[in-house]
Amino acid sequence: PVLQKPITASNFARALEQPVPPRALTGIDALSLAIDRGELVLHWQPILDLETNRITGMEALCRWQHPDQGLVFPDAFIPLAETSGMSQRLSAWVLNAAFSQAAQWARVGVKPIVAINVSPEAFEAAEFVDVLEALRAEHGLSADQICLELTESSAARNPTRLRESISRLRLRNYHVALDDFGTGTSTLQQIQALPCTELKIDKSFVLQMAHSEEASAIVRSILALASALDVKVIAEGVENEEVAGILQAGGCQMGQGYFFARPMPADRATDLLCSRVKAQSFCSS
Ligand code: C2E
Ligand code: MG
Ligand code: MG
Ligand code: MG
Repeated sequence: PVLQKPITASNFARALEQPVPPRALTGIDALSLAIDRGELVLHWQPILDLETNRITGMEALCRWQHPDQGLVFPDAFIPLAETSGMSQRLSAWVLNAAFSQAAQWARVGVKPIVAINVSPEAFEAAEFVDVLEALRAEHGLSADQICLELTESSAARNPTRLRESISRLRLRNYHVALDDFGTGTSTLQQIQALPCTELKIDKSFVLQMAHSEEASAIVRSILALASALDVKVIAEGVENEEVAGILQAGGCQMGQGYFFARPMPADRATDLLCSRVKAQSFCSS
């Protein structure tokens, strides 16, 4: 018998964002065409300060609004792009779209830190900082409003090169986060040598925290490590209040997950940011 994926709270919630047909995708040409046709969109997921419950950031998560297959999630097409030389083109599209959105938000008076997932190829490219600086100038944004997220698994590829790239970004004041932290193969020595500003604990540990003493122990050790290295921690995959509470009590500064909000289209993200800001000051949209 064919094993069916169990319906858990998390894949149910993800399904609510919109169903993904489980069909195999189309090739590289289709992805290239998708960019030409404007079928890629960014959805946005808030990052919250666990102590104040304020939104501190918004992460850009890429989706493909496929004409026949509906909303396609990035796991189905990012790996394809990264092994086919499409990576640069996709990165350029994502950076451009994310900076434009950040500028639009700034115009209506909201300035979350905009977090952008960056492929290792793009991140290691010599001209990456120049591309960012050009976009920043074009859109009138400051570097400390932008966070570049790099997965820990890609960090082990070329530690020396990576350290240089991160240093260049830090000199200009960009935030740099190590994503999916705890799932890669970096040594503690490599981590210590990386001048990143945030660690994002991988959701696999956070999802299990409430039930697994091992997962909780791993999360505690990441929090201790981060505190020793003086970097902030974002827990991803926070799906309930209990876990949010444990994280906050344990010294985790920020959280992200379905408990707070699912990734959402830009217009809803704008409404959310503006309604939050209105409570404190004023939003001119
Ligand atoms: P990520 O950057 O680690 O993003 C977190 C993923 O967890 C997102 O999946 C998000 O929708 C999901 N998530 C958020 N909260 C919860 C929760 O409470 N529970 C559970 N179970 N899941 C949660 P998504 O959007 O499918 O993205 C998957 C990955 O694709 C991202 O992982 C990121 O590595 C990559 N990705 C997304 N957009 C881009 C992009 O523009 N460029 C690149 N290079 N990679 C991207
Ligand atoms: Mg990310
Ligand atoms: Mg992650
Ligand atoms: Mg991930």
